[in-house]
Amino acid sequence: MQLTAVRPRVPERDLVAAEQAAAALLTALGLDVGSESMRETPARMVRAYADLLSPRPFRPTTFPNDEGYDELVLARDIPIRSVCEHHLLPFVGVAHVGYLPGERILGLSKLARVVELFAHGPQVQERLTKQIADWLSDQLSPKGVGVVIQAEHLCMTLRGVQATGASTVTSTLLGALREDARSRAEFLALTQPR
Ligand SMILES: [Zn+2]
Repeated sequence: MQLTAVRPRVPERDLVAAEQAAAALLTALGLDVGSESMRETPARMVRAYADLLSPRPFRPTTFPNDEGYDELVLARDIPIRSVCEHHLLPFVGVAHVGYLPGERILGLSKLARVVELFAHGPQVQERLTKQIADWLSDQLSPKGVGVVIQAEHLCMTLRGVQATGASTVTSTLLGALREDARSRAEFLALTQPR
């Protein structure tokens, strides 16, 4: 099984129109984008969002599981940065991603790249968690997959209810990590939110 490079779809962009629209938005909100200190703000906003919304392509390197390794492979504390699709404000946190290998294993650094691939916004944390788990399940046919994400949503902690420091935890467990009590308990113990 040879996996091909993953080339995420980058949407068509008109950065000039985006910059004009950003200036119009800020002006409508009562901000003075003609002032010296904010003159470049619409362009900087557009660059920042374009960056946040652009995933990097990657090649998911897999290896045959020649030694028949059948214990949990787990990458903890993979940084997450994404943008919520409801407010277009960032959410940041960590992901713990693990699987019980079948016939193939994935290069360890690739677990973080899979997270990054799906974290480019606009996203919601529940979907992000499930997409990562489903992707690993499809690509590796492992015996089990587990994904836990703990993130702080700025739309929640900076405004609205202002629940500063509150974090949201989501998880998806598939296969043996869902059904086998021992595997499930091991995975959940190792990924305890802190
Ligand atoms: Zn939000």
